[in-house]
Amino acid sequence: MSKNIILLGPPGAGKGTQATRLVETRGMVQLSTGDMLRAAKTSGTDLGRRVAEIMDKGQLVTDEIVIGLIEEKLTQGAPGGFIFDGFPRTLKQADALGALLDRKGQTLDAVIELVVDDEALVARIETRAEEARAAGQPVRADDNAQVFADRLREYYKKTAPLLGYYYAKGDLQQVDGMAAVEAVAAAIAKVLDKG
Ligand code: AMP
Repeated sequence: MSKNIILLGPPGAGKGTQATRLVETRGMVQLSTGDMLRAAKTSGTDLGRRVAEIMDKGQLVTDEIVIGLIEEKLTQGAPGGFIFDGFPRTLKQADALGALLDRKGQTLDAVIELVVDDEALVARIETRAEEARAAGQPVRADDNAQVFADRLREYYKKTAPLLGYYYAKGDLQQVDGMAAVEAVAAAIAKVLDKG
């Protein structure tokens, strides 16, 4: 059965890694606003130029921009279901997503929080940068300790309230994001296969 899910958690929690696996194993469609914004930045579009500075500082871009990006993608449909990765990040975005799905006659089936330890996250971000460097790949401009601290602060200030929002709706499911990648994937699969 096709399901639409949100992967929620601080930067470096493993949302992207798990989303990629779900795409491969279940044919779901990953909607990562971070990836869309980075693509806009790289291709030098007007949008890319507008958001570059904000992203490099580890701050959130405006709700209007990311809601617009998601709205565009939702019109394309996904028979295997959508994975929202890095969206929504504010209560306004969460409300907008609910409204967009309603309008399309679709549901949000689960919000999966990857529960992680902040200190371990800093180490993960550094590893991500080192791995990219070793592979000769570009390192994300926001993957360094200083900017990471700002991204984490943005998460607690603006995104963490979504945990209460979705808990109150009965949608929140918690998964141990500190476990090995395989174990996290298995825990997510269990949530998806239930009900
Ligand atoms: P991510 O790849 O999800 O960590 O996103 C990288 C950066 O893109 C964030 O630090 C923000 O600057 C921006 N961004 C991504 N998604 C959103 C969103 N839903 N709302 C606001 N800004 C976002």
